[in-house]
Amino acid sequence: MGKHAVQFSKKKRTKYRFQKLKMCKKCNRYSILKDENCPTCGAAFVGIESLVKSIFKNRLFTEAIWILIIVSIGIVFAPTVNTLYYSLIAGVIFCISYVILTFIFMKSEYFNQLKKMLRVDLKKISAGLQFDSELANEDVREGRLGQAYEKLREIGDLISKDKMKLRQVKVLNDIMLRSDMELELEQLIPTVYDKDFVKYALEVLKINRSMITKKCLAYFIQNRESIVMDFGLDSLISVAGTALRMKLYIQEFHEFIEEFLDYFPKERVLRLCSILQSNPEVDWGSLGEKTKHLVAMKYHYDPDFKQFVS
Ligand SMILES: [Zn+2]
Repeated sequence: MGKHAVQFSKKKRTKYRFQKLKMCKKCNRYSILKDENCPTCGAAFVGIESLVKSIFKNRLFTEAIWILIIVSIGIVFAPTVNTLYYSLIAGVIFCISYVILTFIFMKSEYFNQLKKMLRVDLKKISAGLQFDSELANEDVREGRLGQAYEKLREIGDLISKDKMKLRQVKVLNDIMLRSDMELELEQLIPTVYDKDFVKYALEVLKINRSMITKKCLAYFIQNRESIVMDFGLDSLISVAGTALRMKLYIQEFHEFIEEFLDYFPKERVLRLCSILQSNPEVDWGSLGEKTKHLVAMKYHYDPDFKQFVS
C-alpha cells in the first residue's frame, strides 16, 4: 500500500496541557479535539476555563447573597436605631473587605477551583478522551489518516503512555512525510524499543536532521543492537552523523561518533574537523586524535582538508 499524501493543520498551543479540554454540557462529555461543536449532538463545546470561571462566579454570587441575608437579618431585628446603623455599617465594611480579599486571592482561588474540578471529573475526562480516541480509530479505518493523526496528537498531549505514542507513529508511518509538516519526534519516544518508532524516526531524519535531539540520540544508542538488526548499520551511521550538528552533541556523544568516524561522508568529516579546530579548549576525549588520524590517512591530499592537515 502506498503512503498517503496529507496536509496537517497547525497545532494549537496552550500554556498548560489541560487548557485544551472542553465539555459538551448537553452530553456531559469532555473532549480534547479541536472541533468547536460536539460531534454527537452539535452543541457548542465550552472550554474548561470558562467552565471553571462560571462555577467560580456562581460561588461568589451565592456567598454575596448570604452576606446580604445576614446583614438584612441584623437590620430587621435591630432593637434600636443605633444598632440598626451599627449592623448596616458592619455589613458594608464586611462586604467591601470581602470583595477586596476575593480580588487579591482570585487567581489562586481560580486555580484551586480548577484543580478540584480536574480531580473530581477525572473519570469523566478519561471517558471523554476514550470517545475521542474511538473517533480517531474510525478515521484510520476510513482512511482519513491526516485527521486521525491530528486527533491522536491532541489526545497524546494529555496521555503520554507508550500505547498512545505508538498509535500516532503507526499512522505517521503510512503518511508521506514532508519537511514543511509540523511533525513531532521527541514527544513520541517510547520507553522501550519499538521498531515502528525507529522506522518513523529514520524517515524524519531524512527530511529534517535537526529533529534528532539529544533524547533521540540517547534512544538510538540505548537500543543500538536491535536497531542494527532491524535496520542495518547504515541507519546507525546516519544517526551518528546528525550528532555532528552541534558542538554540545559532539561532546556528549563523542564515543558514539568515534565508532562510526570511518563511515562518515566527507562533508560530515569536514564539519567535525572545523568544530574540533575552533574549540581547542574542549576535551574531546580520543575523538580529536582519531579524527586527526583519519584526516592524515584518508584526506591527506584533499585540498578541502588543507587547513586541518598539520
Ligand atoms: Zn454533545
